[in-house]
Amino acid sequence: MAGLTNGSSHFHINIPTIKFTKLFINGEFLDSVSGKTFETIDPRTGDVIARIAEGDKEDVDLAVKAAREAFDHGPWPRMSGAARARIMMKYADLIDQNIEELAALDTIDAGKLYGWGKAVDIPSAANHLRYYAGAADKIHGEVLKMSRELQGYTLREPIGVVGHIIPWNFPSSLFFSKVSPALAAGCTMVVKPAEQTPLSALFYAHLAKLAGIPDGVINVVTGYGPTAGAAIASHMDIDKVSFTGSTEVGRSVMKAAATSNLKQVSLELGGKSPLLIFDDADINTAADLALLGILYNKGEICAASSRVYVQEGIYDELVQKLVEKAKAWVVGDPFDPNVRQGPQVDKQQHEKILSYIEHGKREGATLLTGGKPLFEKGYFIEPTIFTDVKEDMLIAKDEIFGPVMSLMKFKTVEEAIESANNTRYGLAAGIVTKDLNVANTISRSIRAGIIWINCYFAFDRDCPYGGYKMSGFGRGYGMEALHKYLQVKSVVTPIYNSPW
Ligand code: NAD
Repeated sequence: MAGLTNGSSHFHINIPTIKFTKLFINGEFLDSVSGKTFETIDPRTGDVIARIAEGDKEDVDLAVKAAREAFDHGPWPRMSGAARARIMMKYADLIDQNIEELAALDTIDAGKLYGWGKAVDIPSAANHLRYYAGAADKIHGEVLKMSRELQGYTLREPIGVVGHIIPWNFPSSLFFSKVSPALAAGCTMVVKPAEQTPLSALFYAHLAKLAGIPDGVINVVTGYGPTAGAAIASHMDIDKVSFTGSTEVGRSVMKAAATSNLKQVSLELGGKSPLLIFDDADINTAADLALLGILYNKGEICAASSRVYVQEGIYDELVQKLVEKAKAWVVGDPFDPNVRQGPQVDKQQHEKILSYIEHGKREGATLLTGGKPLFEKGYFIEPTIFTDVKEDMLIAKDEIFGPVMSLMKFKTVEEAIESANNTRYGLAAGIVTKDLNVANTISRSIRAGIIWINCYFAFDRDCPYGGYKMSGFGRGYGMEALHKYLQVKSVVTPIYNSPW
């Protein structure tokens, strides 16, 4: 069993008072039109943290109206890129100034490690703003070399009103990986955070106002997917929907976009990413990467390396190392600095993961370690490793989104490539080898949006990230993400008064 610290070690917890529970529309915190609210739950205990305004279609309509007004007549799309950048920089500084409170909100709402929140998630939220602020005054088209006596150039214009739909696993960094490029582009927006994790998004709405983002530019509608989320996807006055979440819901968002106003769509969806470990790998490094790949953020990460393929020469030794390290992996209260894995986000996710574990056992995979829920309260699960996994088993095919690794063996490079690609997903892949030829060959042969060689989760805001196949399309991060929120207009005029 993994090392446990729940209740047994001493650490200081600064649980924040919940200040923002209402929808944020046109610069004001408002009750929902229906007056309805929903509970947000602390996954450490299952207790209710707060009741949050439950937005629905009418609230989305109000938010879109505010965003449309701000886009058509407000200052944001019209001000210089440099002026937008100054406000975005201020917004980022305000995030830094509230880092502890924001990290704590994500910890109580999503079960995320408080230490990681302070070191990674919240700084990354602020740095997304800074990165795209740096691009805001460098958005331009190009002069065209026309084939006739015409002068032509392009303008890059903001796409308009954007709907951002966000999942619960990275409430802060995903909020800003979407909002920041859209702000830099000059768009206005309606953001729907996941119903499990509304707290930090509402805090960010408050900080937007303090930073001087004009009213109506960022609106936050908290609520459920099939109501508030669906209203965004099918809205006739939203120009683009940027969705991050499951493949199943992504499909319905795309359908809704198609049957409403043909709004542009980008989809960042699920994954079942392979990690390929070769015989020449350093065992310790390989085991650490494999564990990080599946246990980071308790496995609730789209790029999790949930399929680990190990070359036969080091298989037995690596398995032993993995079990040893997994048993020492500390699960417990995510505020505790010694803990490496907090609770799963909610009861439903907890039950889903446990049912996949049962399925794995029934299908004939061997449970090497873990597999059980932990503690009386909260939604904790042991780090879990299966061997003897066959590629047609459900645990090798479905995205479990929890701390469950499937270990498989391979012989040759060709076999590794074939297995890695044997999935409907294509988000990420990892390769652990000292052989550059092998690493380069495989990088070009795997159909996935990012390949990590001798590292894993090496995200960088300058590095485009997104899916192949059913992991979606469109890229987050980098200048690619900025271009999702811009469109190209061509302007053409005759020169020398020539007949065109
Ligand atoms: P989800 O698809 O259930 O929900 C995501 C968001 O969509 C939530 O805000 C939800 O309320 C909303 N939603 C639900 N039904 C909707 C509908 N009918 N119309 C419109 N919106 C709707 O996903 P989740 O469980 O919150 O998140 C986990 C999934 O997200 C995993 O599959 C994971 O791989 C994926 N994910 C992908 C990336 C990426 O960058 N590719 C990043 C993080 C998470």
